[in-house]
Amino acid sequence: MIDFNVAPFEVVRDYDKCVNCRVCERQCSNEVHHYEEGFKKMISDSTKCVDCQRCVCLCPTKALKIIPNQNSFRPNANWQQKYLTEIYKQAETGGVLLSSMGNPEPFPVYFDKILINASQVTNPSIDPLREPMETRVFLGAKPQTVQRDADGKIKPTLSPRLKLSMPIMFSAMSYGSISYNAHAALARAAEKLGIYYNTGEGGLHKDFYKYSANTIVQVASGRFGVHKDYLEDGAAIEIKIGQGAKPGIGGHLPGAKIVGDVSKTRMIPEGSDAVSPAPHHDIYSIEDLRQLVYSIKEATEYKKPVIVKIAAVHNVAAIASGIARSGADIIAIDGFRGGTGAAPTRIRDNVGIPIELALGSVDQRLREENIRDNVSLVVAGSIRCSADVVKAICLGADAVYIGSAALVSMGCHLCRTCNLGKCNWGIATQQPDLVKRLNPDVAAERLINMLTGWNHEIQEMMGGMGINSIEALRGNRLMLRGVGLNERELQVLGIKHAGEV
Ligand code: SF4
Ligand code: SF4
Repeated sequence: MIDFNVAPFEVVRDYDKCVNCRVCERQCSNEVHHYEEGFKKMISDSTKCVDCQRCVCLCPTKALKIIPNQNSFRPNANWQQKYLTEIYKQAETGGVLLSSMGNPEPFPVYFDKILINASQVTNPSIDPLREPMETRVFLGAKPQTVQRDADGKIKPTLSPRLKLSMPIMFSAMSYGSISYNAHAALARAAEKLGIYYNTGEGGLHKDFYKYSANTIVQVASGRFGVHKDYLEDGAAIEIKIGQGAKPGIGGHLPGAKIVGDVSKTRMIPEGSDAVSPAPHHDIYSIEDLRQLVYSIKEATEYKKPVIVKIAAVHNVAAIASGIARSGADIIAIDGFRGGTGAAPTRIRDNVGIPIELALGSVDQRLREENIRDNVSLVVAGSIRCSADVVKAICLGADAVYIGSAALVSMGCHLCRTCNLGKCNWGIATQQPDLVKRLNPDVAAERLINMLTGWNHEIQEMMGGMGINSIEALRGNRLMLRGVGLNERELQVLGIKHAGEV
């Protein structure tokens, strides 16, 4: 049969440097490299390469590089090569195209079109090395009024809340979609940093109950791994309605990944596909959502904040307004660039809206309706650096979730083939030989280092603006200016253009 496809990448080996050590052969789970006895040299099958960069990083003589395949179809502004390649694939398989991680298409990245203010002359900046800066954040409903008892003492009427040392948490990534060691690293880093990681919809492995003070447990439509102890052990409970990478559809973890402890933790048989339905079958309205929120609160004696997570879609502001009235304490909104272990490519690349626009419109709507303090807002969907965090907070977020950035800090090179289960970095895989490549202690240390650096940078940016607390930064749109944005975009974001006072 003719293979219509063209390998997207080309493996280039510098034979002057290659010493035939065969490290690349051992490191590549896609069997790209092998030693050819006849030629007495290493050769490569580029058609299998997914550009994960593992062999490049581990080659002791730096003899390898992976480059985009120079062989191209005849250029066509309409029929780009990727469309032809995808049609060939579907013509062979008849299946839905699957991808992983976030939307890679060239839609505008609004964070890159927003600039941050700094103080000059009249309003002094603050030196974060010499003056206190408050990056702690409390997530949950804020009291509207101060209530006092008969003796005039303030009544402690605070609703349950999460306390974060910095406005960043690790977003939901299930055990199953990522490995045991990746989960262990997230849990350890969250504990050390004083933040939270999130189980995703895969349940909580018994070994990780000891991190419960820093764990957010998720209740998704499949209810995998959800039971009383699970709910009681989480510091907060997140109801997942939607996910940025695949709004409107459920989750799917292939049976091949439902092995051993993954199957036990999810409470489903080994080898069976874990397919969570598109909707929660008991939620068809905000009233239904309210019932689930209060069922969970009742089951956990009103001690835990409840988060409702949705994907950023066209009417996100109206939906958030309903959620803010449902009794939820925190709304998490995931933008269309949010990562995933597996999603249909067409959905990932064409459904949803950017998180910056969603956040701008939700925050403004909740303020207009005077219910902004009923809930905290946590946003996700390709937060790449500390400046994105600061911009998100200025646009109205209380905190952000990071997923892809966390995986990248552990070694992920965004090859976007997590769905194949052969992650060479030991992250998105359940193959024991690959899982052990990720040392959870080293990975936790890298996560801690990255976020320690981000937290310093956040303090420097805040200090530059003359602001000394996240609370004073939240929704402070005066600190932002747009560049190259049209009137409509500026209006949705709620910011002025650069050069405007
Ligand atoms: S798949 Fe990864 S390890 Fe294998 S050849 Fe390509 S870059 Fe190297
Ligand atoms: S987690 Fe692994 S498979 Fe997924 S994008 Fe990153 S390197 Fe690739």
